[in-house]
Amino acid sequence: MGGIAMHNEFAVEVKNLYVEFKTDYGVVKAVNGLDISIAPGKTLGLVGETGAGKTTTGLAMMNLIPSPPGRIVQGEIRICGQDILKLSEREMDKLRGQQISMIFQDPMTSLNPVMTVGTQIAEVIAYHEKVNKTEAMKKAKEILELVGIPAERAKEYPHQFSGGMKQRVIIAMALVCNPSILIADEPTTALDVTIQAQVLAMMKELKEKLHTALLMITHDLGIVADICDFVSVIYAGRIVEHGTLEDIFDNPAHPYTKGLFNSLPSITNRKTNLKPIRGLMPDPSNLPSGCPFHDRCDDACDICTSAMPQKAELSESHYVECHLFHSDKDKSVFGGTK
Ligand code: SF4
Repeated sequence: MGGIAMHNEFAVEVKNLYVEFKTDYGVVKAVNGLDISIAPGKTLGLVGETGAGKTTTGLAMMNLIPSPPGRIVQGEIRICGQDILKLSEREMDKLRGQQISMIFQDPMTSLNPVMTVGTQIAEVIAYHEKVNKTEAMKKAKEILELVGIPAERAKEYPHQFSGGMKQRVIIAMALVCNPSILIADEPTTALDVTIQAQVLAMMKELKEKLHTALLMITHDLGIVADICDFVSVIYAGRIVEHGTLEDIFDNPAHPYTKGLFNSLPSITNRKTNLKPIRGLMPDPSNLPSGCPFHDRCDDACDICTSAMPQKAELSESHYVECHLFHSDKDKSVFGGTK
């Protein structure tokens, strides 16, 4: 593949990404200047309400935005140093599975009901590696064992597996070529709590064993606390706060992040009086001027309605996009509504 410029600090780096969709109701601006980076072996939690742009971000990182109606308007997505937006469809196809994989909420959408799970995994292996059928099946059985499924179940069909087991099969398929990056989009939402904990523990173990960079897309702060090293809070297609797990859980800064903590039950924060964030996420086909959170924010001031807040660094690892964290002098200088 051409244009490989490896630099090993990050397995994945997304810079200034904009994604939009043309609809009958106008242009939906789903992702609006988003930055993300994950180092090998680390887990980043991408947290936000439904409709914040989480799944679109994951699909963009796989270069799977359906086009039309969608398109990546601008930005850079580097997977192990390669700018994937410059790859041909064939090159990208090879990269998927080998370097980057994605698992979805509903395992049934990713499994073929009329093929045994062993054959499905073996097909993925055979597509990416120069191995014969017998070798591919041997490897498929090994990976099933790795995710806690006995090898002899390779000859069974998806309907013979429980929800948790099916999700393990999906994870096995995603990890079979040892990708550098795994994107998990609400991977345990469809499972009951006990199975959810088992699948998460398994993902954590595998990630450590295989040194995979993991993007965990979720709205569940309990999952974030359990598995993530870093957290990016997404609102209206932008990262409004980013930091280490401790930064975000011990010192949340953005009013939206604080609102999430107050509104969502979590393992670490079982508040009895949950307080939902008032109002709704803005219409992505008609984003407001200034800070997109301003009409839901109790701390909003005049500048919030007219100027987009820029990044304010709270520490080396922690930043927030909110006017509250800029000095008055800054407020008059930056501005530019995007
Ligand atoms: Fe609230 Fe203003 Fe900060 Fe936006 S910039 S979160 S409206 S205080």
